Amino acid sequence: MIQEFDAVVLGAGAAGLMCAIEAGKRGRRVAVLEHAERPGKKILISGGGRCNFTNLTCLPENFLSANPHFCRSALARYTPADFIALVEKHGISYHEKTLGQLFCNRSARDITGMLEEECRQADVRVFVDTPIRTVRKTTGFIIEAGDHEFHAPAVVVATGGLSIPKMGATAFGYELARQFGVAIRECRPALVPLTFNNANNKSYSGLAGVSTEVIASWGKQSFREKMLFTHRGLSGPAILQISSYWKKPEPIMIDLLPGRQATAELVQSNASRNPIAATRVFRALLPARLADRWLEVHAPPDWTNRGLATLEHNLHNWTIVPGGTEGYEKAEVTAGGVDTNELSSRTMECRKVPGLFFIGEVVDVTGHLGGFNFQWAWASGYCAGQAL
Ligand SMILES: Cc1cc2nc3c(=O)[nH]c(=O)nc-3n(C[C@H](O)[C@H](O)[C@H](O)COP(=O)(O)OP(=O)(O)OC[C@H]3O[C@@H](n4cnc5c(N)ncnc54)[C@H](O)[C@@H]3O)c2cc1C
Repeated sequence: MIQEFDAVVLGAGAAGLMCAIEAGKRGRRVAVLEHAERPGKKILISGGGRCNFTNLTCLPENFLSANPHFCRSALARYTPADFIALVEKHGISYHEKTLGQLFCNRSARDITGMLEEECRQADVRVFVDTPIRTVRKTTGFIIEAGDHEFHAPAVVVATGGLSIPKMGATAFGYELARQFGVAIRECRPALVPLTFNNANNKSYSGLAGVSTEVIASWGKQSFREKMLFTHRGLSGPAILQISSYWKKPEPIMIDLLPGRQATAELVQSNASRNPIAATRVFRALLPARLADRWLEVHAPPDWTNRGLATLEHNLHNWTIVPGGTEGYEKAEVTAGGVDTNELSSRTMECRKVPGLFFIGEVVDVTGHLGGFNFQWAWASGYCAGQAL
């Protein structure tokens, strides 16, 4: 059956739904095609089921991209305040958890419910259980999907990244980009736990479950947040953040006791200097299991001032070469993607293929942890929606 629309959006995730709503509100006849059985599945699992839907302070610096300026225009045109206004219009209660991160009080279902309601009001037609088979361009676009053939002068690719394949992630968007000769920046898992190399695995895997505040750094980039030891490596917000920047086989640096001195008491002239005294002061500042293990692995050669200085230095400059990452199975997002040089930063339309748009995570714009990836999805979706 042939169906005619003004625009067909591929993927009913955060970006695709926002784009469809905005275009629908402007009177465009819009179809959204989704291969899963319902829209917004990733939204439902986001933020531990409460969806960290935006961040109060959203700056271009909160994003990684080969062109760090690309995201500026979209982020300025659709701001966190715009999304908050939408959330409030729907009476959804929310709270700031930490560092400007806004979460639903109740459930991420509030956000998917809101987007579905907005789709209804804007006469957007969402086709679920509709896997896309082919996309061709003649004068307009012809999309074969499910039992339908869709015809439209514009196609918006909003099929997301590669993370969490079991939630329906596919490489479809990247394949479509290649089909139309659109360049891709190499993809990699981001916001992802890091694994230990063999040596560190022996020393630290017994610390699984221990969490502490650290500064994790790679090059000039650093994040002061919690870090969690896992059975296979390191996780927690500080590590997820730095994982987006890390490049194998380079080391990352971790300050395990930011802003404090562990050995201050031990260096005093009348202090006892021995493993028992060190354990006591380390345990007062660090989780006990970490304190004990650290002193076993990094015992100073002697208890002179020089030995204590080395102990202190190592604690603030733990340099480790991760074995790798936990991969797309555990990554929150995919870094890399459709090269921003190919797109208009105002509309997200492909320069060389008029009528073809890419929005959301499939584009080479990746946010920090903390609601930034959704804000990019809303903002890029909004911009394309205004241009259809
Ligand atoms: C566990 C987890 C928690 C997260 N928590 C947060 C958070 O709290 N805050 C935040 O900002 N970000 C969070 N993110 C990241 C955020 O979910 C994504 O960046 C965002 O969903 C990207 O939006 P998108 O619309 O581009 O892609 P998606 O939301 O992934 O939507 C893409 C849609 O396209 C569909 N699709 C894919 N291939 C096809 C195909 N071939 N045919 C038809 N349909 C297709 C998919 O089923 C999906 O519905 C989280 C990610 C994960 C994995």
